[in-house]
Amino acid sequence: MIEFDKIPVEVTDAIEILQKAGFEAYIVGGCVRDLLRGATPTDWDLATNAKPEEIQAIFPDNFFENKFGTVTVRQKSKKLTEENNNVLEIEITPYRIESKYTDKRHPDKVSWAESINQDLGRRDLTINAIAIGYSKPNNIVVIDPYGGQKDLKDKIIRAVGNPNERFMEDALRLMRAVRFSVTLGKNWVIEPATQQAIKNNAQWLKVISAERIRDELLKIMMSPSAHEGIEKLRSLGLLDYIMPELAQCWGIGQNKHHIYDVYHHSLKALEYADKKNFGIDVKLAVLLHDIGKPVVKRGEGPDSTFYNHEIVGANIAQKMLKRLKFPKKEIEHIVLLVRYHLFYYNVGEVGESAVRRLVRNVGIQNIEELLQVRQADRIGSGCPKAEPYKLRHLRYLMEKTALDPISAKMLKINGSDIMKILGIPPGPKVGKILDVLLGYVLDDPQQNRREFLTEQTLALGNLDEKELTKMANAAKNRKEQIETKRDEMTKAKYWVT
Ligand code: ATP
Ligand code: MG
Repeated sequence: MIEFDKIPVEVTDAIEILQKAGFEAYIVGGCVRDLLRGATPTDWDLATNAKPEEIQAIFPDNFFENKFGTVTVRQKSKKLTEENNNVLEIEITPYRIESKYTDKRHPDKVSWAESINQDLGRRDLTINAIAIGYSKPNNIVVIDPYGGQKDLKDKIIRAVGNPNERFMEDALRLMRAVRFSVTLGKNWVIEPATQQAIKNNAQWLKVISAERIRDELLKIMMSPSAHEGIEKLRSLGLLDYIMPELAQCWGIGQNKHHIYDVYHHSLKALEYADKKNFGIDVKLAVLLHDIGKPVVKRGEGPDSTFYNHEIVGANIAQKMLKRLKFPKKEIEHIVLLVRYHLFYYNVGEVGESAVRRLVRNVGIQNIEELLQVRQADRIGSGCPKAEPYKLRHLRYLMEKTALDPISAKMLKINGSDIMKILGIPPGPKVGKILDVLLGYVLDDPQQNRREFLTEQTLALGNLDEKELTKMANAAKNRKEQIETKRDEMTKAKYWVT
């Protein structure tokens, strides 16, 4: 059942070293869960009856984090990879029980426990409360007092022991339960008594630090089932303490253009973003894009309006993300996507200058993500096609306006250079020479050199007016042909006509 090969030899070495010194040691936590479900663990945790000082004495290359008595030891890695820098870090924590939690967040004091079973008993979920014992040469035992293996197999999230007590001890576990139910794969369920206990204790999220909440929220949002995670947070009463502004979108009916209320529309949009595997900022923007609607809604029923909801929404999103201690850059990025998600575009109606303005406001580097938010918004409204002709046409116009126009400005020589070279005053002759030179450069971009252009200017200066006009006209035709061709190719790229 457990693939022994997946346990690094550094880990079994560390266990042996502890055993030789007279201690017990077990592999515990997320790595056991992942081993048992066939995933490859990244972090390795051991639990032991040795005390921090004893662990430190045994492993000279260590790093001690006092809070929970965890000693991180660095074991020379036998497999060289770029990432591990030639060492594997193993976290070794003494067996613990957590005595009393008056503030729902920190145990009043950390006490050492006697046995691995006691240590497993203070863990949050059955699937996280399994230990693996090892002895030479390759004997493995699984210690599973709470039926974690069965829950893993049946895909059940269940608190260890009394769920109410578990959640009262540390309210972050409320979110962890939801998080694991969406990050471990499809079809996981939270067992009924655990669900009830989550509902009963939801309010204790109030005492959890914004950073811890943010980190759990991010893990949920990054999962391919983020929309299910958000809905679980809501239905279990947690969303009110995480993103109350989003919870308030529930039941806010929309007008004739929509079939869903604001909350369900946002969730549908997120479902599409999940499916498309959009980036985390886009997903957050999708979830929050209509967050301003409850505030600006005027009227009821098919004719209700939501003027300026993107502006108000950007504001609300900004405050919310700040409260959740998101990094400043990320807040700006997400808020921008919310702010401009409603950009107006219609073929023929919105001109190139308006498109240029949109690109300027949003930044060319954010346009693709803005279009992703828009697609998710459309699909979330029940539109069958994420990107209709209109959006493709907008992409085309954006590329077109981003391209440098073909003009004499591209040349490495200008009108006053030509006047100087030929000793002539301003006049049509200068423009004609520039046209001809541009024609040369369009045929062979390598020729856009001052030396070549000066030589040609001298030659063209000797031509009579009729001859020069003929050449200039031919060059202008050539330029138009190239412009048309370029535009046709841009159009073809976006499938527009
Ligand atoms: P991941 O690393 O993917 O977040 P994990 O299960 O390894 O998942 P960690 O936070 O690394 O989670 O914690 C390691 C183990 O410590 C968990 O598997 C669990 O047994 C225990 N644990 C972590 N946080 C808590 C908590 N808040 N309450 C109770 N036990 C916890
Ligand atoms: Mg871990």
